[in-house]
Amino acid sequence: MLGRKEAAPVTTGEALRLEGVRKVYGAEGNQVAALDGVSLSLPAGSFTAVMGPSGSGKSTLLQCAAGLDRPTEGRVYVDGAELPGGGEAELTKFRRQRIGFVFQQFNLLPTLTVTQNVTLPLKLAGRKADRRRAEEVLARVGLGDRLGHLPSELSGGQQQRVAIARALVTEPRVLFGDEPTGALDTRSAREVLGLLQEAVRVYGRTVVMVTHDPVAAAYADGVVFLADGRLVGSMATPTAEAVAERMTHLADEVERQRVKGAAGVTAGV
Ligand code: ADP
Repeated sequence: MLGRKEAAPVTTGEALRLEGVRKVYGAEGNQVAALDGVSLSLPAGSFTAVMGPSGSGKSTLLQCAAGLDRPTEGRVYVDGAELPGGGEAELTKFRRQRIGFVFQQFNLLPTLTVTQNVTLPLKLAGRKADRRRAEEVLARVGLGDRLGHLPSELSGGQQQRVAIARALVTEPRVLFGDEPTGALDTRSAREVLGLLQEAVRVYGRTVVMVTHDPVAAAYADGVVFLADGRLVGSMATPTAEAVAERMTHLADEVERQRVKGAAGVTAGV
């Protein structure tokens, strides 16, 4: 429950919108459509898991939605603002103002302390490197007693909690996670997923997380399923069992399509 004095989270409107996003890799004649016309709208204050078989385009979707890569076609809006065209500098500025990212391998800077890692995004965004603010966010993720440590002195779970604090310190509209629990043991994974839920429920952030783990997906409010670069379904209020079952069907379906495709090619169809 929020205390009376705490501001209510900002949870109105649309946090993320993708319109007909296509991403093609490779030179002409040897092209792969990693995303093949994805349209998606996620409300502010939602927690969404993105699932699909390996190679279905999950990472590409996240990279394009987070402005780490540009779609070949289509549009991406974060918090109502379209991802800018133009140079890399403009895109970087856009990300720093609106987006947080948590990676599977934490990606902390090894020579900086925990607090320094968390103040860095504020500095990069041209804001005051507010040490007290960083310490507050670190206390929220349970690391108030590790402020002066180096990443190498922490467990994997603790490092990922620093990465979450680093992603949240700028109060981004959308927080993206690419397999954020992929390198963690079960207990640390649960803690990290709990923090992502808290970011949504208490602080009104929007979280979009790629995962291959049905148990992790069940922490989200909803799941979207990708296959061969297309959105092929969604599930509200997911349970681990229901997600696992859907994934099994999806893998069978993709395999059937591939066999059919291969047979078509051999038969010269
Ligand atoms: P997932 O995250 O679901 O495993 P990806 O988004 O990584 O899927 O990849 C989707 C498809 O795009 C795959 O066929 C993959 O080989 C291809 N792909 C991804 N990144 C690149 C790249 N940089 N260059 C060429 N092909 C790529």
